[in-house]
Amino acid sequence: MTSVSIRDLTLKFGSLEVLKSLNLDIDEGEFLVLLGPSGCGKSTLLNCIAGLLDISDGQIFIGGNNVTWSEPSERGIGMVFQSYALYPQMTVEGNLAFGLKNARMPKDQIAERIARAAEVLQIEPLLKRKPAQLSGGQRQRVAIGRALVRDVDVFLFDEPLSNLDAKLRAELRVEIKRLHHRLKNTMIYVTHDQIEALTLADRIAIMRNGIIQQLDTPHEIYNRPVNLYVAGFMGSPG
Ligand code: ADP
Ligand code: MG
Repeated sequence: MTSVSIRDLTLKFGSLEVLKSLNLDIDEGEFLVLLGPSGCGKSTLLNCIAGLLDISDGQIFIGGNNVTWSEPSERGIGMVFQSYALYPQMTVEGNLAFGLKNARMPKDQIAERIARAAEVLQIEPLLKRKPAQLSGGQRQRVAIGRALVRDVDVFLFDEPLSNLDAKLRAELRVEIKRLHHRLKNTMIYVTHDQIEALTLADRIAIMRNGIIQQLDTPHEIYNRPVNLYVAGFMGSPG
């Protein structure tokens, strides 16, 4: 069963065609990494899936439903950005509860969701703190927590680790992988980092200039690149 399906997606900013009749099928429960150099259209693609941009042409399906014109909140997705986008005046707990309160979820259910997310992400001791009192890695855990409490079907990550130092990046990579093993949600993860892609992905989609060049397992991409561009980008043995 395919969980996210993108059909002939074209997106233009004015006369600049950023996504060019792009097709992509992501399986339910799959960890898909979108890998490509800066400016190739990764964030744009993710924002289209999230419903944050009006597409120029094509269709997007999530869980078999045509969501091309659905509101972001109706798509069953949670997004984690590179910058943490936490509310600075609220505690961690407040940040986690915010979307649920807006959705009028009962208080005890909100508390339950927060407790579970805090346990999974190991942020229980941080719940009463404000974002300014957290390290970068802790903030990013809270940002992931905000998607987690909403119990979404699909997680979208846009370079969530690129503001962190190398040691923390490696640590959180392991955490995110563990999270995926535990939740088994569909995850679409954008990065320009080959190592991140090779360690996290079930499959990697290599993107260049708004087009998917190759979609395959890390092993296949690395050992059997379809063209010189992919080989060069992955540093494949020649
Ligand atoms: P990536 O995430 O792969 O680095 P982006 O999706 O952010 O790439 O950008 C792809 C292209 O679209 C770039 O050329 C960028 O300058 C352009 N672009 C992105 N957002 C906008 C926008 N809001 N208006 C105009 N051009 C944009
Ligand atoms: Mg980007």
